[in-house]
Amino acid sequence: MVVLNQLRHSGGFWLNLDGVNILQDPGPGSLCMVHQQKLVPKNLDAIILSHRHIDHSNDVNVMTEAMTGGGFQPRGMLMVPPDCLNSDPVVLKYVRPFVGITEITMSMKFKIRDITLEFPIKTRHPVETFGTIYEFSSGRLGYLPDTEYFPGLAEAYKGVDYLIINVVRMKSDNRIMHLNMAEARDLINKIRPKKAILTHFGLQVLKASPELQAKLITESTGIDVVAANDGMKISLDKKESLENWI
Ligand SMILES: [Zn+2]
Repeated sequence: MVVLNQLRHSGGFWLNLDGVNILQDPGPGSLCMVHQQKLVPKNLDAIILSHRHIDHSNDVNVMTEAMTGGGFQPRGMLMVPPDCLNSDPVVLKYVRPFVGITEITMSMKFKIRDITLEFPIKTRHPVETFGTIYEFSSGRLGYLPDTEYFPGLAEAYKGVDYLIINVVRMKSDNRIMHLNMAEARDLINKIRPKKAILTHFGLQVLKASPELQAKLITESTGIDVVAANDGMKISLDKKESLENWI
């Protein structure tokens, strides 16, 4: 409901790590927000989808066109779970020749210049869904996307310096495979990154104030936790590697 009513923007996040530009999960409005944030699509090195749900993938085709100059300058990578390409594909066939396409498999590692992408876990969600760890000069950044809770999650992200975690609900609903706030706190406490960023809030979380929830997790775990905001920029090191929420 938050996406459908645009209570928060849904363009995903843009990473600049050691000069490598990655767009993760370009949901509805990504193209507009990229331009509003003065980011340049032709500077992208890769677009990654954690999964095919529309709030994570809606703008994947138009962003692939934007990255490749309308397809006239084929370049860059598109990394997606296999079910984004096969039946009822979210990646249109006509954009596929514009870009190098990689089907994500669990434990796969991939290098883009000086950074390494790793896909440490397939999460539990109704469609094929993969988390990412981005390894760059100042550490390891983990993205824990949509999933229901299970013990293997903490193990998969062990040792990351920064953690982005999708927390949709305050209370779980068995029909919806998403983390709730108590589960997010438990995972942050077990993984113990230097900094954790909560994002992907549903209505329950917005009503409960994401900022307050982040503060409560900081108080109970001693870990620096922040709530993402539209347009937020976070510097991860002295070299100005950036995350930009769009
Ligand atoms: Zn989803």
